Amino acid sequence: MAADTRRILLVEDEKSIREAVSAYLEREGYWVTPAEDGQVAIEEFSAHRFDLVVLDLMLPKISGEQVCKVIRDASDVPIIMLTAKGETEDRVVGLELGADDYLVKPFSPRELVARVRALLRRAHVGVEPQRDRLVFGSLEIDVAGHKAFLDGNELDLTASEFKLLTTLSRYPGRVYSRMELVEKVLGYDYEGYERTIDSHVKNLRAKLEDDPREPTFIYTVHGVGYRFEPPKTEADA
Ligand code: CA
Repeated sequence: MAADTRRILLVEDEKSIREAVSAYLEREGYWVTPAEDGQVAIEEFSAHRFDLVVLDLMLPKISGEQVCKVIRDASDVPIIMLTAKGETEDRVVGLELGADDYLVKPFSPRELVARVRALLRRAHVGVEPQRDRLVFGSLEIDVAGHKAFLDGNELDLTASEFKLLTTLSRYPGRVYSRMELVEKVLGYDYEGYERTIDSHVKNLRAKLEDDPREPTFIYTVHGVGYRFEPPKTEADA
């Protein structure tokens, strides 16, 4: 598998659809892992990293809704729901559960491939809830203006350091793996670049923190990656 191959989890109990869709996606260069029921889907999802999930709504063992929920609780991977004609309400439920798109059966595999490509492109750019200004005690981030200030002094950050800081600080306390940070900050996924994130983090810390051994904003989560945690203020104490 090439380093930049996108991995897709395809959850569909109907063998003919599963095989046809699989063949189409593989022809487009995607790496496809098929799952024939909800349980296998969840097992596969917990065991591997996927770039996108194609998820049938009506599934044996564990329903597509349930699978969607489980995946959403753990990840913001793009999900395309497959629904049968007339399942309008279920479709709405799917989107409410956090699916990003849906296709009504019968659909053409070509249409699915187009949706997959579009969603992966969007995910690549990174659709995050946007806030223009983030303030954490002495640290202030002007997202729109691409500037960050510590104690009122503007920090001299590179584009990658700035992206790293905004990515981490949007969800304080959330742990990001190096791989996720590579994708979100550098915009590509290739395992060799995980170390690049470490050096960006190191440089960012040097600008943010007095003593890197005693972090005040960016914490290392051993074996996983990093998380942002604003310093406790007196109001929290
Ligand atoms: Ca089905």
